Amino acid sequence: MALTSGLGGQLSIDLGALARNWRALDQVSAGALTAAVVKADAYGTGISMASKALYAAGARFFFAATPDEGMAVRAAVPDAHIFILNGLYPGAANLYVRQNLMPVLSSMAMLEEWLAKCLERNEAYPAALHFDTGMNRFGFRLNEAPLVRERLQTLGYSPQMIMSHLACADQPNHEKNRTQLALFGSVMAQFPGIPASLSNSAGLMTGRDYHFQMVRPGIALYGGRAVNGRKNPMAPVVTLHVPILQVKEARTGETVGYGAGYSLSRDSRLAVVGHGYADGFFRSLSSSNSRPGGKVAIRGKLCPVVGRVSMDQITVDITELGHDVPNPGEAAEILGPHISIDDQADAAGTVGYEILTSLKGRYNRNYVGDGNLPPE
Ligand SMILES: *Cc1c(COP(=O)(O)O)cnc(C)c1O
Repeated sequence: MALTSGLGGQLSIDLGALARNWRALDQVSAGALTAAVVKADAYGTGISMASKALYAAGARFFFAATPDEGMAVRAAVPDAHIFILNGLYPGAANLYVRQNLMPVLSSMAMLEEWLAKCLERNEAYPAALHFDTGMNRFGFRLNEAPLVRERLQTLGYSPQMIMSHLACADQPNHEKNRTQLALFGSVMAQFPGIPASLSNSAGLMTGRDYHFQMVRPGIALYGGRAVNGRKNPMAPVVTLHVPILQVKEARTGETVGYGAGYSLSRDSRLAVVGHGYADGFFRSLSSSNSRPGGKVAIRGKLCPVVGRVSMDQITVDITELGHDVPNPGEAAEILGPHISIDDQADAAGTVGYEILTSLKGRYNRNYVGDGNLPPE
């Protein structure tokens, strides 16, 4: 494959696949609303384009992490319902009101600041409440629930939604899932009639008990593996191809790259690929003689990275390609049909989330398709 435009690589984002993934999850969670989590630039895919495609597919509820991200969604999708997962940033209530962003309130301080704004303007601006059922990240502690409820009752304020977040949903049999489910039930009982939301992608796939009124998938929309130890049912959204810059021969016993930690055990053919850790190819994908590293696909075959990943290059052993020698300018596949984001994540000792959110390299980003699907 030759790279089509520009001298660098091509990151291709399939908005049709994104839209189909949303539809597929919406079917699994039928009966609940299916939101779309678009934080971190929509997991690296581009928050504006992704939000538009998800809206076209049917999504109306969006979760961003920060108010800046919320504003990007607002600009792309004017009538979206937008929640800000990081809550209310101190002093930012006016901005939320102006942009019609709903903070996910997770502390008494946030709640009081929001209620003060509502009282000041005599308007019940919508917000969600996050209760901590076991993450010890965001959320009111469970013993604060009666106080929160009392405060809201006094003012006659009803939250838009109550939510919590699962710590171990990627392991469906983990007992913590059931514990959190039960604790969330105890919170719901204190807020009767208020819509509830507990599940990320993995929780959504765990079963109906976890759906409640709204599910909040992120990673699965973007084609990542949500549940460990199962075949990933989602369509891949992202492919990345980068240029081979040089092809060379090297001899047995020579070393490759910084630190000379990889020495060749045979006469080899090597390809130098224009892609390094500055492009999001993790340095932990380096290999030494004692530890295998990442792989890239060249002419459809997986070829191992040899030696350390540099800032701007990786060296790949293409000896196994035999006489099928690639030409400089030809593409190496970093992510695509032969290497999924989770393959690359497993090799790098990380998760697909980090692979996606690190796609900020020196390559063109191009979009394929859109969110317009045939009607259901
Ligand atoms: C990121 C996030 C999600 C989405 O999680 P995925 O595992 O990507 O599906 C849902 N809820 C909260 C609170 C989050 O922070």
